[in-house]
Amino acid sequence: MEALLDGLNAAQRSAVTSPASVLQVLAPPGSGKTKTLTARVAYLINHERLQPWNIIVCTFTVKAAREMKERIRGFVGDGIEAKLVLGTFHSVARRFLVRYGQEIGISKNFGIADTGDSSAIIKRIIQRQQYNVEPGQARGRISRLKARGLSAEQFAATTKKADQHEFACVYSEYEEYLKAQNLLDYDDLLVRCVELLQKHPACVSSIQAVLIDEYQDTNNIQYELMRLMAQRMRRITIVGDPDQSIYSFRSAEIKNLLRMRDDYQESIVINLENNYRSSGCILSSAMAVIEQDESRLSKTLLPTHCVGEQPTLRHLATAQLEAKWIVEEIHRTKTLTAGLLNYNDYAILIRSTSISLSVERALGNAGVPYRMVGGKRFFDRAEIKIVLDYLRVINQPDHNDALTRVINLPSRKIGESTVKALLEEAETRKITLWKLILDCAQGRKKPHSKISAPAQKGLETFVNLILTSRRKLLPEEGEECYLLELISHVLQKISFEAYLKSTYKANWKDRWANVEELVGQATQLVTTIANGEEVADEALPVVEGIEQRQDTAADILSKFLANVALSTEIERPDGGEPNQVTISTIHAAKGLEWPIVFIPAVYDGSIPHSRAEDHDEERRLLYVGMTRAQAQILRRPCPLAADVQAARSLLERIEDDQYPLTREEIDGEEPSWSASGPGTDGLEPSLKRRKLEASTSFSSTTMSVTMQNHANFSVATATLKTGNAGFTSARDLRALQEEAEA
Ligand code: ATP
Ligand code: MG
Repeated sequence: MEALLDGLNAAQRSAVTSPASVLQVLAPPGSGKTKTLTARVAYLINHERLQPWNIIVCTFTVKAAREMKERIRGFVGDGIEAKLVLGTFHSVARRFLVRYGQEIGISKNFGIADTGDSSAIIKRIIQRQQYNVEPGQARGRISRLKARGLSAEQFAATTKKADQHEFACVYSEYEEYLKAQNLLDYDDLLVRCVELLQKHPACVSSIQAVLIDEYQDTNNIQYELMRLMAQRMRRITIVGDPDQSIYSFRSAEIKNLLRMRDDYQESIVINLENNYRSSGCILSSAMAVIEQDESRLSKTLLPTHCVGEQPTLRHLATAQLEAKWIVEEIHRTKTLTAGLLNYNDYAILIRSTSISLSVERALGNAGVPYRMVGGKRFFDRAEIKIVLDYLRVINQPDHNDALTRVINLPSRKIGESTVKALLEEAETRKITLWKLILDCAQGRKKPHSKISAPAQKGLETFVNLILTSRRKLLPEEGEECYLLELISHVLQKISFEAYLKSTYKANWKDRWANVEELVGQATQLVTTIANGEEVADEALPVVEGIEQRQDTAADILSKFLANVALSTEIERPDGGEPNQVTISTIHAAKGLEWPIVFIPAVYDGSIPHSRAEDHDEERRLLYVGMTRAQAQILRRPCPLAADVQAARSLLERIEDDQYPLTREEIDGEEPSWSASGPGTDGLEPSLKRRKLEASTSFSSTTMSVTMQNHANFSVATATLKTGNAGFTSARDLRALQEEAEA
């Protein structure tokens, strides 16, 4: 218990241990909501003895889910945390549908149409029928209708307006298409899960607690899902902050907070008021932004860190100058703090990805390593998409879209016009493209479409490849699943390395490395399953009286593809090189924090965005961005840097036997280091340590360095145990140094 509550303040503790069945923790940024939620999950397991598979935790991103799991593991013991039903709303919903979807007619091996797939399908429908509808808008609108629970038929029935008719057709054709291809889109995952839980409440009869982070951004359908998941025990904990609601464009409903109080009259609200993230000045600037919203309820937010310095506001004439200044600031502050800051201590938060270009260029030119979050996902890279498309077809040959994309890649002499003719023919015959080409390749039925001899040969090769691969996927009883073998089989058969080499002369090596990375991920999944461990996101409650579909060997590929489709991860899945500046959209930075944050392009048209209708929401967006920052770095040498330098130069003197004791006088202990203090959780001590260690190459001293978070601008205290002559702190060191210099 002690460990669990260690490092929490009284209000946080009361939230963690609260006996309330419905608890709302509403609090400003950096007040420890996520920390509290995590501790409460551990508390429910350790003290209330709930089984982890009966606890559902919904987070906003895959990254947040992973971090939360890590933290919970620390409290409950290795392996227990994997049994929690923890993930994004979408991944939790998918799990229910995979296990129990048969109850509402969803076959087990459904595929997931990601946003890109959905857009492509809608675009095609519109083009084919020449509807007068804008594809991008149609997709957003369909998604919003689904979020409101309005099906295509319901929409068509309610709308009388003639100009809505074409859109209604697009919506319903889109739905038909998904159904024919056995696909669910992101919205369907939620909508159909709601349907499942409404019709078959037994699926969640064992759930004892539901916990939700970033509650302010849930939409109606997610609210419904939460309500249904918790229907038996009515035990819910939500944490959120209305001031950080930034997803209304995705139908998030800030009203859900009030609705919850209506639906659960037993709700208890706990407010947290201390901010543990940012310096006082950062907080007051951020507050000054949000307080302009007059409709907002005012709240207390008390800094726990010192006031610090005013955040810097710079007016720069162009995006290039802005980017240049950012790079200079990164260099300057790194030098100023004597190398205590690493690149991963910096984030550049942008309104939209189009702003990243000049920043990326400037960082690239200066040789500053960076990673881009919220840009192109790893899984969206061209070379990765090809491999995934092959796997999709192998998993589910009726997947027309994936099949169309790879049927002639690499070239099999099946020209575009042939593919088009085949697609049309399949459509008129009301069969999938796969069934059609299977027939033609195996000579069972001649297609009407004219196919040249080389194209016919190409089709046969392709069909053969898919068939032989599928055989690997469906091993005999008792045999292992050969996912990895399957992937290498495909790569080899399509000579993919050679294909990349000839197509991307400049960077084929990087691209091939990405493919290897993908294989690495598949390996990880196979190993996890082989070890009998729960796959990270597969835990589900055990339910009696309703059949839980069991995994077969072939499911490993579906599982792998679903992980891919639901990943919100942008960077390389393994996180890549850790020491990089982060460039992220503000939306994707929600819940995160960095010592130093830059927000470029804060001007009219960008923030607030020219297309934004709701200026309050734009204000909240800027507020979210600003409150990611832990501290504005000092504009003059900070005490921390001075102390570190003092310690360092003194150590150098000792090295050179200059002062005041010699190497021989020091006994032979290894140096030991530790970094602690408020807020150092998020900082990587070993990285800081490495910097200091580099300057102390001798090994026969015991030394402990205690550094406070630089958000505090506090003094580094270096304790140096050096035989009989002892210095106890950096202050002493500096005094000695000054004395020596004098
Ligand atoms: P956001 O609204 O941005 O999601 P949050 O309320 O979820 O913020 P956390 O991310 O949980 O806040 O915490 C912010 C930082 O404050 C983290 O570094 C966390 O470790 C630290 N923190 C939280 N509570 C305490 C505490 N009682 N003592 C010291 N540090 C704390
Ligand atoms: Mg949080």
